[in-house]
Amino acid sequence: METIEPVGCPICNGTTNKFIGKPSIPQKFVSYIRKEYKSFYCKECKYFFVSPDIDLTEKEWSNMYAEGYFCDSMTNWWKNKRFKERTRVLKLFKKFSSFNGLNFLEIGCGEGYMLIDVNKTELNTYGIDVSDNRVTEAKDNRINFEVGNLLEKNYESEFFDFVYMDSVLEHVPDPVKYMNEIKRILKKDGLLYLAVPNENALILKFRSLVFKLTGKKSEAASYKPFKHPYHINGFTKGSLLQLLKNNKFNVLKYRNYAGWYEFLKYEFMSKGFIKNALLLPVHIVAIPLRMQFYQDVICIKK
Ligand SMILES: [Zn+2]
Repeated sequence: METIEPVGCPICNGTTNKFIGKPSIPQKFVSYIRKEYKSFYCKECKYFFVSPDIDLTEKEWSNMYAEGYFCDSMTNWWKNKRFKERTRVLKLFKKFSSFNGLNFLEIGCGEGYMLIDVNKTELNTYGIDVSDNRVTEAKDNRINFEVGNLLEKNYESEFFDFVYMDSVLEHVPDPVKYMNEIKRILKKDGLLYLAVPNENALILKFRSLVFKLTGKKSEAASYKPFKHPYHINGFTKGSLLQLLKNNKFNVLKYRNYAGWYEFLKYEFMSKGFIKNALLLPVHIVAIPLRMQFYQDVICIKK
């Protein structure tokens, strides 16, 4: 049997890691893989990661994401829910600081709905994304948007008062470098909003169990870096808070949320609606267990 050398955890440097298997690679992406990747789970800070570091080129990543990453049709309920979520964050930001003339940056803007909302406030709006998927309204001249990678952009040090990053960190090859860069460009007492999936979610454990029981062992892995949705880093509450602590961010609010309303994202009685409605009991049980699907934090740079 192959012996697996212990690898240091990128977040806590711990070496008590559990080897959880070699990531399975979809056939069409096999030619992108030049290293012997292994997936690990850090038992100390509860972080999932791949070693060695993933070295796919930007072109290769964008090919992987090219196939309909963003959902085309959103139900009105889901549009409204997303709007409320963004409004909640802006209200929380405002609770801790006034907005007048301050600088807001969204990293990974996607369709740009948050940029649209922020552009209606007294904040100066900045956005960066590796590709431009903005809807027309998010292309307003007052929005400073750039295509690129945060690590190469070289924003001025301590320029931003607010940084907003929803569903991004789990996709970046080096989240530790990302956090260092965010710390550098954020002012002292500046606020950071961060949302990532919770790898400890009950629904993931349930799905994995169902796959195992139905003989689909290759689908059972809870952590699948090279398969849609391409989460190459897996955060639990422990590893997320550890990463923030390492970068001297004080957490003002932590929240474990989402999952139960997944079915409402789909048209009534569509396949997605029925499939997710059947999973509703699992999502409901996850609430008191604090094992819901997503987690977010608002924190302050000290
Ligand atoms: Zn760790």
